[in-house]
This record gives sequence, structure tokens and C-alpha cells, in this order.
Amino acid sequence: MNMDITSLSTGLLQRLISTVYPPRCVLCGSTGFNDMDICEVCYADLPWIESACTQCALPLAKHSGDQLKCGQCLQKPPVFDRSVSLFSYEKEAVTLIHQLKFNEKLAYSRLLGGMLASALDKNAAELPECILPVPLYKKRLKQRGFNQSIELARPAAKAFNIPLDMQSVIRVRNTQSQTGLDRKQRRKNIRAAFEIVDPISAQHVVVVDDVVTTTSTVNELARLLKRAGVRRVDVWSIARAV
Ligand SMILES: [Zn+2]
Ligand SMILES: [Zn+2]
Repeated sequence: MNMDITSLSTGLLQRLISTVYPPRCVLCGSTGFNDMDICEVCYADLPWIESACTQCALPLAKHSGDQLKCGQCLQKPPVFDRSVSLFSYEKEAVTLIHQLKFNEKLAYSRLLGGMLASALDKNAAELPECILPVPLYKKRLKQRGFNQSIELARPAAKAFNIPLDMQSVIRVRNTQSQTGLDRKQRRKNIRAAFEIVDPISAQHVVVVDDVVTTTSTVNELARLLKRAGVRRVDVWSIARAV
């Protein structure tokens, strides 16, 4: 048997840690399950998206089939090709993402990123050559101390052994908060917000964001990537706002 000694000891260490500190539900404090910091009841109560537009992940009515797109994507398709999103941005999904972003709780990114990785595994998603977390403007990064999209992307990158690209694209404009802006204002707000600073050779890239609202941010990134020669851009997010 050709076992890697580093991963062996990491595995032992992880088992030891979860014995000494069993996972606790971040929402109610009960014992976690499947080695996650959430209990089975809270997990089941999360606003999981059961059926969604394959291109933009907008939740659709159930039983609409596998390959459906929403009206918006049929009429005026976005630049990106496919999307996967776990939750409707409501109820406890809002709490979890809020905790992750504003309370510097990296435990939340482990939980949410872990759930994203397992959902992708279940759906046998076509995997990209690299994962590109949506970059933060450097001042925002300094304020927050971390980029939540990078932290959310890590578990999937590790699970599928896909490199994280954290250097090819930077955010060059400190776009004002998208909150309170309508669709048109958001599009204008985000225009020319990113710049490619390192060539990208991958043909299939996945952009990871915490919440996708109007899709203007991920669409802008996809436009930039495709202009630089990327053929396919998918979007993975934790929650989809409607
Ligand atoms: Zn719970
Ligand atoms: Zn759609």
C-alpha cells in the first residue's frame, strides 16, 4: 500500500480533533452530524433549492425537468454557462452567510463550503480546470481580513483536487455596495470592476461567490474571462437571491 504519510497523519489528527471537540450545530448548539457543524434538524430546515434554472440557478417550480432554463435566461442568456446554488437566500441561509461575512467566522465557511462540495459531488458536476473565487477589492479585504469566496471555494478545490486561481483577476474598482440598487444600477455599478493581471490558460473556469443576486457580478467576470479566451464559465454559489 502506498499511503502518503502526511495525509495519514492529517487524517488521524482530524479524527482526534473531532473526538475531543465533536462538531456542534452553529445554529442551535446540538451535536452535529456527518462531521459537520450543523445538526440533522437544522440541516433539513435549510432553504435548499430543489429545482432551478440550469444556467443561472434561479429556483423554479418543482417537476420542471432537468434541463430547464428560466424565462430570463431563455430571453437574454447571461454570459456564464451553468450555475449551481445550494439555497434560496432566505431564512437560516441568510444567518449563515451573514455570520460568515461579518463575524469573521471561518467555521461557517468550512460548513458552507463543505456542503457545496458534497452537493457538487452528488450532482456529478462537470468539473472545471480551475476555481476562481470572486476577488475582493483590496481595501475591503483589509477591512474583513479574508475573502469569503476563497474560503467557501477551498473545500471543493480540495475534494476535487482543482487549483484555486487567486491571482489572475483582481478587483480594480471599489464598487459601492449592491444593496438597494436596481438591476440596471447594479450592472452599471459593476462594469469594469475586474481586470485580468495574469494570463489564464484554463478553458473551463468556475467562479465562486457567496450569494448571487442579480448575476451582474458573476456575469461581468464571465464576460472578462471569455474575452480572455476561456470557453466555459460556470458559477457555484451558496445562495441565490430572487
Ligand atoms: Zn441545529
Ligand atoms: Zn436562469
